[in-house]
Amino acid sequence: MIDKGSKITPVEKFFGNPDELTTREIELAKRSPSTKRRIRAEARMRRGFHPFGMALREPRGETCGTCLFAVAGGASARWYKCQKSKITGGMATDLRLKWAACNLWADGMKKV
Ligand code: SF4
Repeated sequence: MIDKGSKITPVEKFFGNPDELTTREIELAKRSPSTKRRIRAEARMRRGFHPFGMALREPRGETCGTCLFAVAGGASARWYKCQKSKITGGMATDLRLKWAACNLWADGMKKV
């Protein structure tokens, strides 16, 4: 529970507990929105979660790039979205194909 009298820094508001962040991450968090998204994604994966909040798939080894639910969007497939998570028109819900797969992963290589 957050004490209403305490002051929450932007870094704490964005990432949660700053004690779990490296000094470099805190410095990078002051940069551009895309850098903030990348750092947040890396911090979540270090804690065992997919950047979209799901648990990571066990055993590891697969990525979102091989998942059935990863879909390309835009002309020339410039971005990817996950059909199993919230999709908006913004970059915040863009998927990186190199991310480790979550526990909802399904083999996109199999013919259904
Ligand atoms: S379901 Fe999970 S593994 Fe598949 S694309 Fe979405 S986030 Fe990635």
